[in-house]
Amino acid sequence: MMATEWQCMHCRCIWVGKQPPRCCPDCESTDAWQKIGCTDVRECTTCGYLFVLEGQQPPSRCPGCETVGDWERVDYVLVQVPTRLGG
Ligand SMILES: [Zn+2]
Ligand SMILES: [Zn+2]
Repeated sequence: MMATEWQCMHCRCIWVGKQPPRCCPDCESTDAWQKIGCTDVRECTTCGYLFVLEGQQPPSRCPGCETVGDWERVDYVLVQVPTRLGG
């Protein structure tokens, strides 16, 4: 199943899930979410490493702990977009 990707129009952080939270966890804006796409996120059941799928399969080996094939789908994840440097 695919999750929807939302972006806060104020701080540009990205939320992945069926629905975005009421308030942006980063800048606390409300109603600032814009749907930008769909994605599928898996979490390593061993170390919690989050892997955002973009139409491909999750890696056979977790990049975090090197466990083989132990991915679990997660409902949402907040992806912080790095603040622009030097601005
Ligand atoms: Zn925000
Ligand atoms: Zn892992």
